Amino acid sequence: MRHLVTFLSLFRIAPDRPDLHIAQIKSVSRQAPLFFGIMTLNAALLVYTHAGVAPAYLTYLPMAVVGSVSVIRCRAYHRLSKATLDAAVAYRQLRMLNAMVVVLLVSLLIWCLALMSFGDVYTRMHVMFFVVFGIMACVFGLLHVRSAALMAVTIALPASLYFFATGNGTLRAIAVAFLALAVTTSYLVFVYHRVFTSLVQQTSELRRLSDDNLRLANVDLLTNLPNRRSFFSKLQAVLSERKESGFEVQVGLIDLDGFKPVNDTYGHPAGDALLREIGSRLHAFCDEHVFLARLGGDEFGIVVAAPGGCVPSAELGASLAAALSQPIRLAKGVVHVGATIGFAAALAHEDKPDRIIERADSALYHAKANARGSTIVFTQDLDQALRRRDLIVQGLRQADLEAELLVLMQPMVDVVRNRVVAFEALARWHSPFLGLVSPSEFIPVAESSDLIQPITELLLRKALAPVSLWPLDIGLSFNLSARDIISPHLVRRMGRIIAESGVTPERITFEVTETALIGDFEQAKANLEGLKAIGCRIALDDFGTGFSSLSYVHRLPLDRLKIDRSFTSEMESVPVCQDIVETMLLMSRNLGLGCVAEGVESGGQMALLRSLGCETMQGFYFHRPMPIERVAGFLERFADSALVPGTACAA
Ligand code: C2E
Ligand code: CA
Ligand code: CA
Repeated sequence: MRHLVTFLSLFRIAPDRPDLHIAQIKSVSRQAPLFFGIMTLNAALLVYTHAGVAPAYLTYLPMAVVGSVSVIRCRAYHRLSKATLDAAVAYRQLRMLNAMVVVLLVSLLIWCLALMSFGDVYTRMHVMFFVVFGIMACVFGLLHVRSAALMAVTIALPASLYFFATGNGTLRAIAVAFLALAVTTSYLVFVYHRVFTSLVQQTSELRRLSDDNLRLANVDLLTNLPNRRSFFSKLQAVLSERKESGFEVQVGLIDLDGFKPVNDTYGHPAGDALLREIGSRLHAFCDEHVFLARLGGDEFGIVVAAPGGCVPSAELGASLAAALSQPIRLAKGVVHVGATIGFAAALAHEDKPDRIIERADSALYHAKANARGSTIVFTQDLDQALRRRDLIVQGLRQADLEAELLVLMQPMVDVVRNRVVAFEALARWHSPFLGLVSPSEFIPVAESSDLIQPITELLLRKALAPVSLWPLDIGLSFNLSARDIISPHLVRRMGRIIAESGVTPERITFEVTETALIGDFEQAKANLEGLKAIGCRIALDDFGTGFSSLSYVHRLPLDRLKIDRSFTSEMESVPVCQDIVETMLLMSRNLGLGCVAEGVESGGQMALLRSLGCETMQGFYFHRPMPIERVAGFLERFADSALVPGTACAA
């Protein structure tokens, strides 16, 4: 029984070999025209020898059926040979093939048996030849499909028996030879099936390996995102397809903020876990239009290819940054990282990735320098700003700073006692190539190019030089940059210069902004305490523009708050600004701190501030920043006049 089941299974299509099924149908499809061609030719020859010998319904009619079936099947197999087959279709086709072989061969056999009763010995021999030839052609045509080939061979058995049963010696000899041929052919079918199966298996294995290799070469194993190589080939591909797709192409570069400290503090396994989490968050953004890749380290790349305006880069950047800045739970604790993103769009006929990536990189660089955690899209204005920045970097490197840097002084006035209490030193760079450059432009550039330290020292020296000539009750305010404030040598450097100047430290106030403190709060706080310890005073500049003002005020050793110009200028027109100024004044009074209102430009502003209780003010209303050599004259004029400004002169 078991043997019978095994035997019968040879005629069935095993359902669990999808690769084999596809390969079998592909081979059959390729050979179909040959097979059906030979069958049709032989049938036609059979009709030729039996025309007029046998009735028409046994010649032309079967011939028409054989021809039509051949044409229909050939066309069907031709379609299959071109199509990408899935396993289910291949399996269905194989089962259909098995059924078709049985029907076809049995029909041919019946046709031949019917023809045997007509004609002479030659025509009968021809019928016999047709049977043997037809079965063998079928076996060889279907060699790739064992079940179908075996079915064809099996038909040889009843055919041989029929010939044997005729009792004719010649036919019997042919029947025996036919049977022997059928047995040998069966053996060949088995051998060929084994070879073909193992060939298909090897090919599948090879394809799997090469798919794996392809994956390894294109995927970042840590995050499972596409890697740098994929990023470039994707970008190249979407650029090349732009003519057909009509898509707008944009490139984004993401840089994580705060990854290095996590890696340094918690170790590399924690860094890896963090990157994996970042990878999975980025995965959630991938779709048919958005492609994300890890470029290396903590850098990721985005390729957007979508119909114009469909995926706005600024919005995508904001969503990405928001997703990445959510807390990340690691084995050793919860950490926070942020993301800064630069985007650039491909120009109309741009078909190479390099320049687009360069522009996205510029936008990222700009974002990192000016607005960490934000997304900046490259624009022509940004391009100009970056070119200007490049000019400033080069200009500063070549500059004779001693000769080109100068300091202007702007008075701070006590409007109650009607006297000047201090001057704020404001830097200027007189470049022979760029003209007069504002500190708002060149100080940030100096900060990012390591020139800030010598520049700050030089400016402090220049600012202190005239102070010993001023009345003793007039102080000097000096601005420190963000980089100065977190320098571990700040106190020593400033202390040395102050000592050399001979000015008592009590006359000097260092101005710092809140945003500058955020970089490294503890170091900044230690520096401010160090400066206080040597006798200097500290003012919090641009007060109200930072995002956590109140939390800083009580933790820092401050002497004075400077209310930012934006509140002073809006105070008269925007009631909320007036409320804010009032609150700041109240707060400074409660904390025992001095308060200076900056940017006072009109008598109205001065009067309003005065009515709110503000005593010390600074602004164009009193005087614009002036060259050092004009300070003495200004002080003289100021002492002579009552507080009737409008005497402001341009610096
Ligand atoms: P800041 O410390 O807030 O300086 C005040 C700025 O407001 C100065 O601009 C000043 O000229 C301007 N200003 C004063 N009164 C008025 C007014 O009534 N109306 C208007 N519209 N503006 C007024 P400046 O000199 O261009 O300096 C810009 C910024 O550059 C400063 O802002 C400060 O943050 C920085 N800076 C200036 N000098 C230095 C320096 O020596 N070292 C460092 N690190 N930064 C400096
Ligand atoms: Ca200032
Ligand atoms: Ca200010």
